[in-house]
Amino acid sequence: MQVRGLHKSFGDNEVLRGIDLEIGRGEVVCVIGPSGSGKSTLLRCVNLLEEPTKGQVFVGGTEVTDPDVDIDAVRRRIGMVFQQFNLFPHLSVTENLTLPQRRVLGRDKARAARVAADNLQRVGLAEKADAYPSSLSGGQQQRVAIARALAMGPEVMLFDEPTSALDPELVGDVLAVMRMLANEGMTMMVVTHEMTFAREVADRVVFMDDGVIVEAGPPAQVIANPAHERTRHFLSRLL
Ligand code: ATP
Ligand code: MG
Repeated sequence: MQVRGLHKSFGDNEVLRGIDLEIGRGEVVCVIGPSGSGKSTLLRCVNLLEEPTKGQVFVGGTEVTDPDVDIDAVRRRIGMVFQQFNLFPHLSVTENLTLPQRRVLGRDKARAARVAADNLQRVGLAEKADAYPSSLSGGQQQRVAIARALAMGPEVMLFDEPTSALDPELVGDVLAVMRMLANEGMTMMVVTHEMTFAREVADRVVFMDDGVIVEAGPPAQVIANPAHERTRHFLSRLL
């Protein structure tokens, strides 16, 4: 995945001011930075929930920012998990996983159900297949949201602060699923404040501030030994 010269403005507010970032196949990149620095906007531009003002995004060699691109084809290749799980409350867990497969991928009912069952198993929730979201804990709901994204067979997974809405005791289960995905070789871009996760799982950490990448490198460098004062200041406030 590649981001080249990405800019995004909302009116006069230039939120992304030239982002260049390459994420190799199987690489895990954690994005950190203060509130308002543009982290969510960056993720949302990658899967076209926002239209970039300028610049390009490539996923697996396809330019997703090409005006002629098939937006459904792009979304099929990119899974996204949000802070708020965004499950359909009126659908069971299984139906939450089968609906997008059937609507977007055109899979038949039996195939979609099989893929749903496999992915619920992967996130450790096989026994919740018939439950409704409201009967699940936040951590379970977030794991369902991850399974729903995985059921689409994405090449890349984007996570926007997937654990920040969770009670502390539920964070670990979600991070464990993300760790599993990383170990399986999933390409991942993760906006997070979980520094232990970033330190242990990320191949690279990107520190953003004010719409630019201030520094990027292995966690041992960016987290343990940051080169920039802005990074040091941000990290000191987290600890
Ligand atoms: P946080 O850590 O709080 O989630 P962030 O780094 O994800 O912050 P963004 O959500 O990307 O930051 O927001 C960056 C800036 O863009 C903010 O000033 C925000 O107000 C502005 N912004 C984001 N989305 C929109 C929008 N749809 N319309 C107008 N302004 C927006
Ligand atoms: Mg955000």
